[in-house]
Amino acid sequence: MRHLVTGGAGFIGSHLIDQIMKDENAEVICVDNFQTGAKANVASWLGNTRFELVRHDVSEPLRVDVDKVWHLACPASPREYQRNAIATSKTNVLGTLNMLGIAKRCRARILLASTSEIYGDPLVHPQSEDYLGNVNSTGIRSCYDEGKRMAESLCFDYARTHGVEIRVARIFNTYGPRMSPRDGRVVTNLITQALTGKALTLYGNGLQTRSFCYVDDLVRGLMALMNSEIEGPVNLGSPKEITINELALIVKMMVNPKAEIEYRPLPKDDPQRRKPDITKANKTLSWQPVEELETGLIKTIESVKNQMPLGIFN
Ligand code: NAD
Ligand code: UDP
Ligand code: UDP
Repeated sequence: MRHLVTGGAGFIGSHLIDQIMKDENAEVICVDNFQTGAKANVASWLGNTRFELVRHDVSEPLRVDVDKVWHLACPASPREYQRNAIATSKTNVLGTLNMLGIAKRCRARILLASTSEIYGDPLVHPQSEDYLGNVNSTGIRSCYDEGKRMAESLCFDYARTHGVEIRVARIFNTYGPRMSPRDGRVVTNLITQALTGKALTLYGNGLQTRSFCYVDDLVRGLMALMNSEIEGPVNLGSPKEITINELALIVKMMVNPKAEIEYRPLPKDDPQRRKPDITKANKTLSWQPVEELETGLIKTIESVKNQMPLGIFN
């Protein structure tokens, strides 16, 4: 069984590869352009004869023969996906088209890492898969939101037109070890700031909510979906909703109780509330997250410490 994992050197992709490689009959081709990922995330597999690392941008065609495609390539952090917005659209649209081309030619099943951003700034709460969303098609998040909507659309058209076996996961905020401390996402930003004695930056009034899922739980959900007969879309995420203020207080208590809080302007189109309805994943995949936020954060804090240059805490 040969697996193609796009974005495999990234945060979620590298954890997924760790799980796939546990099967001794599995081979993995990891394709990544290292925009936000790092070779260090897959370093433990370099040299293993069942593992190959290929530097490639998925928005360009690629010819490999595989049995399963896990399509995760795309920066997930708002700062990173907005930094080169046109490249993000190309990754989502052309990249997904190319991966569907591979799945069609190889008769391989393909799983798309879609996102809760499909729902935009939602007017319905919590968000279930049948909510059609409230997305701004002209805003700074559009390259990602609309890009992923187009990626989903392509998947369903390849399923209808060519009979490609698709699996669509709508991933909600996920955190854990190996998140890049430099990509600006809230969990790693707050941890890094607390560790280095800087003020914790909260955007807006901090009353916006997110629901944070630990990466091991998420990967278990992705694997269950890939191995199921469910096309999706299926929400995968934690139903435990907290405000960003609450998250900051938890990080502050865990890392540096003296850390100050600094409020900054809220970025445009930042969703106010986000929480998945995971009834579908629960019923069809028997899936739910189990890791508590505090225990997941302990492991994430350790990982951020290990990724920081030595001596930075002195
Ligand atoms: P990440 O940024 O850590 O990983 C993405 C990986 O894709 C990186 O290794 C990056 O270098 C690679 N990549 C980006 N563009 C590429 C391209 N054109 N060609 C080849 N490689 C490319 O992000 P992540 O958190 O691991 O997210 C993985 C996937 O899950 C993404 O598709 C993201 O949209 C989705 N997702 C993540 C979250 C989350 O909270 N982490 C939430 C919703 C959806
Ligand atoms: N593609 C690819 N690798 C493959 C097969 C296809 O990169 O092994 C690309 C191909 O270049 C095309 C896209 O995937 O841009 C869609 O392929 P498909 O065969 O569905 O479309 P067509 O080539 O007929 O337009
Ligand atoms: N955020 C924050 N401080 C930061 C980084 C992010 O208050 O240093 C907020 C951001 O405005 C958003 C939430 O935290 O409301 C989650 O942001 P993130 O970039 O992690 O992901 P998003 O869910 O917005 O894609």
